[in-house]
Amino acid sequence: MRLPLAPQAEAALERLQGAGYEAWIVGGCVRDLLLGRTPEDFDLCTAARPEEIEAVFAGYRIIETGLRHGTATVLLEGMPLEITTYRVESGSSDARHPDQLRFTQNLREDTARRDFTVNAMAYAPGRGLQDFYGGQEDLKKGILRCVGEPDRRFQEDALRILRALRFSATLGFAIEGETVAAARRQKGLLTGLSAERVAGELGKLLVGQGAKEVLLDYPDLLGVVLPELLPMIGFDQRNVHHCYDLLTHTAVAVDQVPPRLPLRLAALFHDCGKPACFSLGEDGQGHFYGHARESAALADAALLRLRFPNKLREQVVKLIRYHDSQVEERFLRRWLNRLGEEDFFALLDLQRGDSLALAPAYRDRVAALDHLESQARQILREAPCLSLKDLAVNGRDLMALGLEGRAIGAALNRLLEAVLEGRVTNEKASLVQFLTDFQAENPAKKEKK
Ligand code: ATP
Ligand code: MG
Repeated sequence: MRLPLAPQAEAALERLQGAGYEAWIVGGCVRDLLLGRTPEDFDLCTAARPEEIEAVFAGYRIIETGLRHGTATVLLEGMPLEITTYRVESGSSDARHPDQLRFTQNLREDTARRDFTVNAMAYAPGRGLQDFYGGQEDLKKGILRCVGEPDRRFQEDALRILRALRFSATLGFAIEGETVAAARRQKGLLTGLSAERVAGELGKLLVGQGAKEVLLDYPDLLGVVLPELLPMIGFDQRNVHHCYDLLTHTAVAVDQVPPRLPLRLAALFHDCGKPACFSLGEDGQGHFYGHARESAALADAALLRLRFPNKLREQVVKLIRYHDSQVEERFLRRWLNRLGEEDFFALLDLQRGDSLALAPAYRDRVAALDHLESQARQILREAPCLSLKDLAVNGRDLMALGLEGRAIGAALNRLLEAVLEGRVTNEKASLVQFLTDFQAENPAKKEKK
């Protein structure tokens, strides 16, 4: 077997081996290569001690952040490579930090501390694959299985529960039965994890191809870190527009928006305020007045709690806030102005995903959204006039027309308004004409000097 390594990874292995140290690529990169995918990054493990790694790569840029734990990041021709001394972790009293860490000379011991069999293989050109736990077999079957005894492995580090869900979503793999059962038994430990680690895994999970299936199969596990999901499980919307319970609607919407984190998060939370806003109409229909605002507030609190970056949080909250608003074609410029280009098109993506998760008879809304999108793109191609600074006249031009002081600002705003509503085109001559006409027709309101 020969796997296509990046040349820098191959060079690093040769360098370590040339200096007399056993060395392998290990973990996710081996898994990805065996799947025929290009790894995001290459991790190496070696019998060399940290100071020996430093000596072997003397003259290269080394980032020493993890050195105490045996990890050096070496920059080789522009590629950062994580090189870690073989190590054993034993025992953990808080399900977060391994209590003890000890270096070893033995690859098998190093791979034993890794989370899943498919993540515990090592490879080196000429030496072949090292697979002590049946990783290749599980990879063929598409199965995630803990290395060793799953309850213990989750007790050592509860993040592995979320990692199982994450890899299930990104690889489309099933989680093996014993591993699932242990995850359910140990799920309470998830509450002790740091927000950053949880957010990291949730983010990767949500943009995975199998996010929908994971949401539907494991809401009880995800609900420990995302309690917002719990009231959605099996929630009957009792409304003709809907053929799914709230969690299923949400999972389908997540699946139907493009795999970008802001959109996936917006889809995840877009209706989470519905249970709190439910009322039953006299017609027997369920209504959810104010749910966009409620969902936005819940999402805001959840993303803050999980310490997602502020900019991302604000974008998600904004999308949810408007997810149920109907964008009218004649107000497209106004919407573009209000949300900005990027968020506006994201809103259309969200609304499309939401529509595709409705009862079949209502999914044709998507065509109207497609039309809005092409109209909006047309507007931007023709005359992207969306804020005062984009207006084809400025204060100086209006002064030349005899306006002064506050009258200038008022006139500029009036012109922008008119352009946003499509009543005048954003060209200097048209704008001047528009203003002159306006002043002639509204002598009472004529701006005072
Ligand atoms: P990705 O493609 O997302 O980088 P990966 O498998 O490389 O996936 P990383 O988080 O980069 O995942 O971790 C690298 C390797 O380190 C894993 O493949 C696994 O062997 C091991 N590992 C990482 N985190 C844990 C953990 N919490 N418990 C056990 N082993 C872990
Ligand atoms: Mg990795």
